[in-house]
Amino acid sequence: MTIKEIIIKYCQQLENISDTPRLDVELLLKKALGDVDSMYIRMNLDKALSDEQEKYFLEMMKDRLNERPIAYIIGNREFMGLDFFVKEGVLIPRPDTETLVEEIINICNNKTGLNILDIGTGSGAITVSLAKYLDKSHVVSVDISDIALEIASKNAISNKVDERIDFIKSDVFSNVSDETKFDIIVSNPPYIRKSDISGLDRQVKDFEPYNALEGGEDGLDFYRRITEESRQFLKQGGILAYEVGHDQASDVSKIMQQNGFKGIYTKCDLQGFERVVIGFYNN
Ligand code: GLN
Repeated sequence: MTIKEIIIKYCQQLENISDTPRLDVELLLKKALGDVDSMYIRMNLDKALSDEQEKYFLEMMKDRLNERPIAYIIGNREFMGLDFFVKEGVLIPRPDTETLVEEIINICNNKTGLNILDIGTGSGAITVSLAKYLDKSHVVSVDISDIALEIASKNAISNKVDERIDFIKSDVFSNVSDETKFDIIVSNPPYIRKSDISGLDRQVKDFEPYNALEGGEDGLDFYRRITEESRQFLKQGGILAYEVGHDQASDVSKIMQQNGFKGIYTKCDLQGFERVVIGFYNN
């Protein structure tokens, strides 16, 4: 088949499965053709794939038609203008989380040498982009999952910030030292209510790691735990910054308030949901 025939046929087939059928077909074509760019696709619409390329494309497309997320199939996802390797076992970085990273960069206002702790690093999206964009910052990056630590380390290396990141296997703060206090503690913890998991999109529920999604009966378990324990690890005036579920901002703000945080405010994602909650620690 030619590139054009493939685009037409599989865009149609993906229509009910993907919000971005055209993009998905293009991403799989690029991969099948040996990591060519979008321009190559556009300039070669009448070119036929070799048997080998077509076989590879069809294998990947079969996965996609079975609703496996495109990022897992091609093995990467862009986040904050950086390239992240991903595979099953880590949550796929989402645009919502860029709102959190952008806000932290904003409030840091060109300060250098900040000491940051990221709890539940997953693919390393938050850790790596903060290390990249905050000059001379140092990040302690923790996760309870070995796969997450392996992938996040790989992403730190490929984005050339591994020298300023320490990865630690830890259940929240359990293996983190409180000797040096942090300027910023950031987390995108699991926050889906237990009872909401079964109603999630199949592409999330069946492919993304349960451990990175489920946040207890009311989805707030990790916010309670992290907020309370963070006080022992933050500098005076230090920042606690969270991504939260679309309807959790006021509950999480309340948890911060109850723990003595000041100047609490929220930030909306691109869909207008209060997605980010930030507060300052003042003992
Ligand atoms: N934003 C993710 C989702 O809706 C959940 C991420 C999380 O629990 N931290 O699928």
